[in-house]
Amino acid sequence: MSEAKRAKTIEGMTGPWEIVIGLEVHAQVQSEAKLFSGASTTFGAEPNANVSLVDAGMPGMLPVINDFCVEQAVRTGLGLNAQINKVSVFDRKNYFYPDLPQGYQISQFKQPIVGEGEVIVDLPGGESVTVRIERLHLEQDAGKSLHDQDPNHTYVDLNRSGVALMEIVSKPDMRSSDEAAAYLKKLRNLLRYLGTCDGNMDEGSMRADVNVSICKPGAYEKFRETGSFSHLGTRCEIKNVNSMKFVAQAIEYEARRQIDVVEGGGTVNQETRLFDNKAGVTRAMRSKEEAHDYRYFPDPDLLPLELEDDFIARIKASIPELPDAKKARFVSEYGLSVYDAGLLVAERETAAYFEEAAKGRDAKAVANWIAGDLFASLNRDNKSIDESPVSAAALGEMVGLISDNTISGRIAKDVFVIMYATGEAPAKIVEEKGLRQVTDTGAIGAAVDEVIDANPAKVAELLKKPKLLGWFVGEVMKKTQGKANPQAVNDLLRAKLGDRIGE
Ligand code: ADP
Ligand code: MG
Repeated sequence: MSEAKRAKTIEGMTGPWEIVIGLEVHAQVQSEAKLFSGASTTFGAEPNANVSLVDAGMPGMLPVINDFCVEQAVRTGLGLNAQINKVSVFDRKNYFYPDLPQGYQISQFKQPIVGEGEVIVDLPGGESVTVRIERLHLEQDAGKSLHDQDPNHTYVDLNRSGVALMEIVSKPDMRSSDEAAAYLKKLRNLLRYLGTCDGNMDEGSMRADVNVSICKPGAYEKFRETGSFSHLGTRCEIKNVNSMKFVAQAIEYEARRQIDVVEGGGTVNQETRLFDNKAGVTRAMRSKEEAHDYRYFPDPDLLPLELEDDFIARIKASIPELPDAKKARFVSEYGLSVYDAGLLVAERETAAYFEEAAKGRDAKAVANWIAGDLFASLNRDNKSIDESPVSAAALGEMVGLISDNTISGRIAKDVFVIMYATGEAPAKIVEEKGLRQVTDTGAIGAAVDEVIDANPAKVAELLKKPKLLGWFVGEVMKKTQGKANPQAVNDLLRAKLGDRIGE
């Protein structure tokens, strides 16, 4: 899609404006142990149960790098088609916070482990756009201050202290709240495929700092041509937004606010803001002038991180088929539409379910059943596909019964409901309930005759209203409890009514 077409314009008093968005996503590395200590990362443990002396910032403790976290960062970098930096450096980012016992956070500043990459973002309408990645670096998470445990005291829980995070920084390449939400969704999908972050936003495993600015039409294109940020408006950064819905809401609110500021004769200050999700507004937290001077310097306790070619090659070889490749394969191998393929690869588990169900079956029909009846039932019950009472094998079997004319598509809907409720095999349900499709033309013919004989007035009307034939089909289906083969019913009606049907 062209850049100009992508930008969503907002009408102001002085004419149209456009939005520019860049995201910094903090993704918790999927690892049993922390970045520089052996303490556990289990979610939901008793406060301060998972804290080693390193995480508590005890004097004289030495951090030791967790190789697995490094591997996870490299794996993520490869999934982002990014430059892997064979030498990177851990720095101390110094600031005081009650839940930061070391008095600094170990992060990567000038030399991150992963450099430039890209993410292909699938938009709801079926189109795709590319969002460029600036960098990915490893850093420690901080602890958590608990203000709601006691009216007079604040408690500190250090379970998260030292947990490994990947900060994934995008270029300012998103042009609407929809694109930002779609980017987050794709990124989460990618991390889950890679197994490098569980993506559970409500457990804090993934959160985003959302940078928003506004500009006049044409300015963004100049920025892309020249690479100079001077063509863009001043950005505000909305910290720690923890759901896709809130990211979209915060962007919409913030863009409107900036337009009002500028059109009111003011200037946008570069500042950090917070999104209040109850009120649906962003509020200033600190301005650039008050911004911390972190006094970054290389952590003297840690050597520069040097990666061997073998190490990177081994990780590369272990990467599973990722969503973009899988989507392309679903289109070419199974003949699915791009849209259906996109739906099925959106979660790794759904894609696996589909492939198991489609083995030797009508793949398009399987895709339709998953996207239709199965998704509807799972959504209604708030279940993931892993918890589906209908197994992939059972769904495939049911589609097989439709293909070989054992049951009609109509009856299959009822069979599916029973399968979903009981977990029983489709063939068993069809036999026990006597749902086998009637293809025997003698039996269908008798029902057709009965319906014709009982409705002479309708038959007379057919000459003027040929569409009434559908009504006759419906009546015959009712008489056969839906078990008649609809094609056979149609054929027989046409044969018997012949020239009494108008054109
Ligand atoms: P900082 O740590 O100061 O926030 P970073 O370079 O880590 O700086 O992140 C800056 C983020 O802001 C990036 O995601 C970048 O794409 C985005 N960004 C930079 N300039 C703009 C702008 N004018 N409008 C919107 N987003 C921007
Ligand atoms: Mg930032």
